[in-house]
Formats: sequence, structure tokens, C-alpha cells
Amino acid sequence: MAREIFDAIAAVREMVSMEEAAERYGLRFNRSGFAVCPFHNEKTASFKIHDGRGHCFGCGWHGDVIDFAQGVLHTDRDGALRALVGDFGLPIPLDRGLSIRERQELYARSARLRAKREREAAEQQAADDRRHAALDLFILYDTWARQYAPKSQDEEIDPRYAEACRWLETARYNSTERG
Ligand SMILES: [Zn+2]
Repeated sequence: MAREIFDAIAAVREMVSMEEAAERYGLRFNRSGFAVCPFHNEKTASFKIHDGRGHCFGCGWHGDVIDFAQGVLHTDRDGALRALVGDFGLPIPLDRGLSIRERQELYARSARLRAKREREAAEQQAADDRRHAALDLFILYDTWARQYAPKSQDEEIDPRYAEACRWLETARYNSTERG
């Protein structure tokens, strides 16, 4: 039995991310990725998720998705497990062991979820990279537009200045694009 409960905890940890649980149980994250900590009284958000764990820079709370559910729902480990399984509709029976078929389905579903998360993380990374490159370009054009601007009316236009003027606004737009 203890072995099966351990399995259920591992399965829930794999199937519910800290981010999903935090959102489900009421945390709202600001643009810097901080939320108001549910474990101490505060006005400034100091709760952050990193590497699948929550950490509060205010009170020092630290834990995974099970600890988190346990804390916000004021329950014990078993209660947290039941809540997560129920709230996220996970196919994990808690009162008995898994049949071979159930275990296979569970593992397949975990693998699909993990692949989906990895794909999303890769897409996010690619979007960040694009924004970063766009920002570099915007800074370059902004510098050129200042540095190579003609000093007098009859001075020949520097091609870098012309290019910067033509593309500056596009580069600005691309560097602030949300994705
Ligand atoms: Zn805290």
C-alpha cells in the first residue's frame, strides 16, 4: 500500500506542474513572474516558481506541487493528493493499486504531457531568442540613426543612416512583440 501511495505522489508530481497548481489555486503572477505569497501576509509579490518548485523570498517557503496544495488547501499529504487528482481529473485511483493496463495508460499520458511541456518550453525559448535578436537590431539601428545622421543639408546620406531610418520602427515593433 505504501508503495502504491508513493507511486500516486510521483504520478501527480509528473502530471501537474507547479504553474498549473498555482493558477488553479488562485495565484496570479505579474509580468516578472511573481505572485503574492499564499503562506504569509504581504503586499509585494515575492512568490516565484523555478524549476518546478515554488519559492517565497518573503517567508522562505519552499516546496513542490504536493507541498503547495497541502499548504493552500490546509490539508495533509493525502488530502493534497486527493484534491489534485480530483481537481485536475487525473486517472489515478487512490484507494487501490493500479492495474497493469491503468499503469500503462498513466505512463503514456505522463509521457505525452512531458513532451507537450518540453515543446512549449522550446517554443518559448525560440520566441525569447527572436525578441532578443530583434532588440539587438533595434539598438543597432537606433545607434546608427544618431551616429550617421547628416550634419548638414548638402552632406551625402550615409547608407547606414538610410537603412536605420527605413527599418527603425519595424525593429522597434519586433523587439516589443509579445509571444
Ligand atoms: Zn511567503
